[in-house]
Order: sequence, then structure tokens, then C-alpha cells
Amino acid sequence: MKTLTKILIITSFAFSHNLFAANEKNIVSNYKIEFTKEKESKNSLHIRCEFDINIEQLNIDTCIEMKFGGKLKEYTINDSTFSTYPHIDYVYDDEQKTIKFYPANSKYSHVIMEYDFLSYSTLVIYRNVCEIWETSFSEFYYPFIFGEKSLFDVTVKAPAEYLVIGGYNFTEKEGQPDIKIYHYKTEYPVASHSCVFAILPDSTYTNAKYGLKNFEVETYLLKDVDVPDKRITELLYLTSASIDFFSKYFGKYDNKQLGIENKLTYIFHKNAVSNRNDLNFIIASQYKFAQKPHILPLAHEIGHRWFGEWTLLIENGESGAYFIKESLNEYLSFIFAKYYYGQDFFDNIIDSCRRQYNTIKNTNRDKSLYDMKFNNNFTVVYNKGPLIINETVKLMGEDKWLLFMKDFYLKYAGKPNLKYEDFIELLKTEDEVSAILLDDLVKKGSIDI
Ligand SMILES: [Zn+2]
Repeated sequence: MKTLTKILIITSFAFSHNLFAANEKNIVSNYKIEFTKEKESKNSLHIRCEFDINIEQLNIDTCIEMKFGGKLKEYTINDSTFSTYPHIDYVYDDEQKTIKFYPANSKYSHVIMEYDFLSYSTLVIYRNVCEIWETSFSEFYYPFIFGEKSLFDVTVKAPAEYLVIGGYNFTEKEGQPDIKIYHYKTEYPVASHSCVFAILPDSTYTNAKYGLKNFEVETYLLKDVDVPDKRITELLYLTSASIDFFSKYFGKYDNKQLGIENKLTYIFHKNAVSNRNDLNFIIASQYKFAQKPHILPLAHEIGHRWFGEWTLLIENGESGAYFIKESLNEYLSFIFAKYYYGQDFFDNIIDSCRRQYNTIKNTNRDKSLYDMKFNNNFTVVYNKGPLIINETVKLMGEDKWLLFMKDFYLKYAGKPNLKYEDFIELLKTEDEVSAILLDDLVKKGSIDI
């Protein structure tokens, strides 16, 4: 790891007229990033990014705030050089994890930032088995405006003994003998926080590819954790069935505009927790995958293709953020389970949710779903949330609920500044009585179900 001393150097550089012409639609445009993995620097990357900040079109007289920074605060960003041309003032705040740019008289400014970024989250969650670079754990390793759509030109360079798998599909470019170079350019604007990727030590993993009907599944399994063959078969069936189920209601799995391919990669790690959907790949615990009685949680991850942090752009810190991003999707995976495993299985999951909820009922952990501004109370988000949705579905009917979820997805996927109120207002227009019930349950502390 490089020195932890933070050096901030302001430089200027030659300006060329049309080279960085601004895109009229976004505050930030012409976004180019290069991530370099250095051999000895675990959980750290050298990052160079450049973009235009478009000042004039927004008529902003305050500042432009981008998310930037990580969990270790003053230790996260090192050896930084930031430059802006034409010059605009900026302030980096490691406590708030923001970089603020203050507009000057110019129409826009081209920003170049170069720094080392140390991610505490990838270290803690993935335990040096692999590095997963995700903005989801409040590690903002490149600056972005949440809710904006960006066209990215991304390059990742890594020593040859690593594999890099992108949230969006990389093409491998010719590198030097000991360095691999991966590149992608998004064809359509994508969520500004979705520039995620995985770095795997090649020798630690076994790779396999499977052809499903018109769909390819790839797995990266750790060599030293045994997984029975029947588990892989089960995974392939579950993947196929859950994709069929969700796409029947909410539209095709692959989507060019979202950068989603007809292909899904599962990457496993050694932590006992943390399954994640990272666009074209899913991360999962290999221990749990090998031993758990069922692998339904992976259908939940597939559900995030439609409902989750990459499509429902409700910001962390907003009321009901994790009811919208997690509880809704968890309940959808239960409906899938009913079709796939049967009614008894569904009833057992609901009973299990009730048992789990009862362990916290009337305690200070029994928060309302409306208070779930961050994903910091799993019992409320994944047990109480589905329980209250189930009460609403009992009143409304499952078919009507699924139609409403489709309308909600089609109306709000990819739209910035989503709020819980948008969700409940839409439900009110479709079924007012059910909306009043659900809104009441979402805002309640203790519930009797
Ligand atoms: Zn989830």
C-alpha cells in the first residue's frame, strides 16, 4: 500500500478547444476512467478519471456536489492530484464523502483526478479472496452524482494473474505480457453509480460455462470449498426458472439500454453473508451455497435485475429506501418460490418471517419500514417488509399486485429522485384501499400480523 499521507496538488494543463466539448444533457459528461490494480496493493486501486462539469446549462449558483470518498475517511484517498480547466474551485470533504465544485464564469470545466483509493468494504466483506468494487457499501471510489445517467469509457488494468469481470461486459484488449487490459464503453447512459467490477486471483477459482436455453451461465467457484454437483444443477434450474418468471411479468432479462446481456456470471466468496447483484454478475457466499437447504436467495438476486439499486434510483437516506430497493424484491422472490417450490414452501417462508419478526417485536429494533433509510436492520427489511406486503396482497390479490409492480417498474426504473411517496401514490391510483393499508403498515413501528 502506498503512503497514507494525503497530498492534494492543484495543477493546470493545456486547454484544447473542442476536445472536451460538453454534453448538453448532464451535469457531468464525457466520463473516462482508468482503474489500475497494482500487484502488492490489496483492496486498493490507482484511479485516473476525467470528465466535464457542465455549469451553464443548469444555471447553478450554488455548488455541484458529487459523491466521493470511503469508509476509512482520511485514509481512503492518497497521493491525489486534481486539476480543473478552466479553473473552478472545489472542496473535498472526507467526512461527508463529497467533492463540491463551485461554478465560476465558464460554461464548463474539465476535471482530471488521479489518486489511490483504499476500499475498507472489499477487505472486510470479501476477505482477500477477491476484490469486488461496488459503490453500494458507501465506497465512492470515483466521483458521481447519484441519479444521473452516464456514458462511461472504462479501462481496468490488472496483473496477468488476476481476472477482471465487469458489471458491464468487458472486452479484453491486448496488453503487455504481464498486464491484462479490459475495456468497455457504455452504449447507452447507465446509472452513474453502476461502474462495478470484480478482480479475482485466477489460481483460486475454477471456471465453468453452461448453456441454458438462449442464455449462458458462468460460475467462478473457489477451489478449496466443496460444492456438490447437484447444487450446480439446482442453480442452473433455479436461474432459468426465475428468469422466466420475472421476465414474464416485468420484461426481458437482457436489455441493451441497461447494458444487461443474455449471460450471467456467479462469483463466490468465503464470507458467510453477502449475496449481491452487480448487473451482469452475482456475488454469493460459497459456504452458504454448498450447505444451505435451499438456494432461493439467489433468485432474490436475479429479481434485482428488475427491482433494486441499479434501476430504482431512490437515494440512501431517503425514507423507505430499503423497503423500495429490498423488501419489494424479497416478496417477489417469495411469489416466485410459490410457483417453483409450491404453496407449502411459500407458507413456511411467511411463517419464518413472522417468527423472525416476533424476536424483535416491541423492542427498540422494531423500526418502521419507512425508517429503513439504510440497509441496517435485516429483520425489518427482509422479514417485516414481506409480511406487510403479504397482508396487502391478501387484500388486493396477487395478480393485481404483480400488475401494479409492473406499472411501478415501467414508470420509475432509471428515473432520478425516486421517493417512497411516488410508489404509494401510484398504488393509490390503482387500488386506494390497499394503498392506505400498506402505507399505514409501512409507517408503523410495531405491527400485529
Ligand atoms: Zn437484495
